[in-house]
Amino acid sequence: MRDESIFDLDELNEECGVFGIIGHADAAQLTYYGLHALQHRGQESAGIVTTDGQKFSVQRGTGLVTEVFNNNNIKQLLGSTGIGHVRYSTTGGTGLANAQPLVFKYAKGELAIATKGNLVNAKKLRRDLEELGSIFQTTTDTEVIAHLIARSSAPNIVEAAKEALNQLVGAYALMIMTNDTLIVAEDPHGLRPLSMAKMGEATVFSSETCAFDVIGAEFVRDIEPGEMLVFDAEGMRTTTFAPKAERAICSFEHVYFARPDSNVGGVNVHAARKRMGRILAEEAPVEADVVTGVPDSSTSAAIGFAEATGIPYELGLIKNRYVGRTFIQPSQELREQGVKMKLSAVRGVVAGKRVVMVDDSIVRGTTSRRIVTMLREAGATEVHVRISSPPVKNPCFYGIDTPDREQLIAAQKTVEEIRQEIGADTLTFISVEGMLRAIGRPASERNRGHCIACFTGEYPTVLEDELVLEGKR
Ligand code: SF4
Repeated sequence: MRDESIFDLDELNEECGVFGIIGHADAAQLTYYGLHALQHRGQESAGIVTTDGQKFSVQRGTGLVTEVFNNNNIKQLLGSTGIGHVRYSTTGGTGLANAQPLVFKYAKGELAIATKGNLVNAKKLRRDLEELGSIFQTTTDTEVIAHLIARSSAPNIVEAAKEALNQLVGAYALMIMTNDTLIVAEDPHGLRPLSMAKMGEATVFSSETCAFDVIGAEFVRDIEPGEMLVFDAEGMRTTTFAPKAERAICSFEHVYFARPDSNVGGVNVHAARKRMGRILAEEAPVEADVVTGVPDSSTSAAIGFAEATGIPYELGLIKNRYVGRTFIQPSQELREQGVKMKLSAVRGVVAGKRVVMVDDSIVRGTTSRRIVTMLREAGATEVHVRISSPPVKNPCFYGIDTPDREQLIAAQKTVEEIRQEIGADTLTFISVEGMLRAIGRPASERNRGHCIACFTGEYPTVLEDELVLEGKR
């Protein structure tokens, strides 16, 4: 989990964010601003690769976007086309070698690749490639894609990329850049959203639409599942590289990952979270004096819950925004003495009150227990916990950092047992149906076009590497 030792919270974390631009004189700077808007999706490393049509300029490093880039190194990123990446690593490990975009030299020239998501057959592909003589320099899925492209006998990069993508199984939004071509593609289920915008003559791509607003680009549309867009000397064209499968956007984007000002699958995230709060109030009403959300991702759902019940919404919990990567973490002893780093309960708001605490998810249960305790210590007379996602019972194999099933409290315990463990007076999770209704995409699509595997175990793809591990393949 991200900086567990520093933040002391057991959140789910996404692996990456990608951003790309073609046809703008300030490609590097705009990519920098885009990545900054996507920083919540990964803080481990950041990188930008640009091309002036002749050669690449590359800047990558570990740390935050503001730590990796400065005025000097941004100026050295030449050209009007660029791709960028922020990374939070699970698969592939940490470190500069795995920082993206990855850059390769192969028989036909230079290649830069930035991906977001996770392949579920990467281990198998890697093993096959190694048997054919490929030597890997990183432990990322992205390098597997590069080797597949490099080994292809297809006549050009577009056909080679298609051939490579057809061998991948899993979740990915990716950008492949050479000195004369930019390729943007989305996996056949559309698990990891990718959107397109226009900025004058330039075309922009981003994992999340919030990056468009930051740079003043105008949203055009989402990339379709199985779609590949190609930009080269002939202009832009769209093609499909695989038959479109059932759409399965990660439902956790709406619950937690995406910024509230982003739209995912055509639905505003803040509005969806508010509806989750409203539906949670319908599904599990409670008598209380104040509603509070665990900042920041649960604020919208808490507002929805308050609106639906008429119980006032209050800032009962405050986040300390300045806990940074270099923060000296307190020892276990100091922590037990009550030194809290990330969250504080507001005594004046909760003392003597029956509190509804809305949170977006329970992973291991440790965070919920600490927050409930914190609210009681601040004088809350009752703490009613309402969770705006269904119980997380299964790990994610598509690029979200979830612990093993053994550590997922909802996989091990009943709701009543979890309630006892976290010390709440009552505990309710939203239903799967309620969450999907709150997001509100068309009911005609299976699961309204969402992946819900971590709640139900219904994975949208075959989990090839897992089957191998289990000896079933
Ligand atoms: S398993 Fe859960 S976290 Fe992973 S893609 Fe599906 S909905 Fe998202």
